[in-house]
Amino acid sequence: MSQVLVSNHPLIRHKLTLLRNVETEPKKFRELIRELAILLAYEATADLRVKQTNVKTPLASVVGYELTDKIGLVPILRAGLGMVEGIWDMMPAAEVWHIGLYRDHKTLQPVQYYNKLPVHPTVQVCLILDPMLATGGSAVATVDILKRWGAERVKFVGIIGAPEGVERLAQAHPDVDIHLAAVDDHLTPEPSKAGDPPAGYIVPGLGDAGDRQFGTG
Ligand code: URA
Repeated sequence: MSQVLVSNHPLIRHKLTLLRNVETEPKKFRELIRELAILLAYEATADLRVKQTNVKTPLASVVGYELTDKIGLVPILRAGLGMVEGIWDMMPAAEVWHIGLYRDHKTLQPVQYYNKLPVHPTVQVCLILDPMLATGGSAVATVDILKRWGAERVKFVGIIGAPEGVERLAQAHPDVDIHLAAVDDHLTPEPSKAGDPPAGYIVPGLGDAGDRQFGTG
């Protein structure tokens, strides 16, 4: 079964609180997404494989370590984009593969509209990046795509999950660990009157993670 790892690191809890705040402006929101992504990826990569190597300091030779896993960062467009740069700074040799999915209004199923993965896998560990694990539809579809591609190990790195999305991803892909800063209460239902929020938003959540990053809300 998937491990669902909800960090209780004080820095993550502090930054998540700022991120949720409706008063947080897009510039600050983007900074917080970047910082939270780094902290969560740090935890998600704790089991990457290394090999021993010798390194010469100005004073002596010493045994060191070198990462051996090739890592792919897989942001789900568009909200996952803001999670890439910070993590990429920490692991500059990572490859970045974008996946674009939208939800078909009739079938409510995720439909792929962007995917430039090469024919054969080029990385061993894929980190799927999406700040909101809401219904889980896009996350499950992205893992499906990566597994068909031949990815050996896949992890999901998000910021807030809904119980429904966490359950769906864990059921569909029990080998995929899920790293989050929080699991919230529920998803919004179908709107019953004008002014209700659209269905599928995480409550309390933070609103629309894409709109809040890109200033389009
Ligand atoms: N996507 C978002 O941006 N926010 C939600 O609450 C759910 C999905």
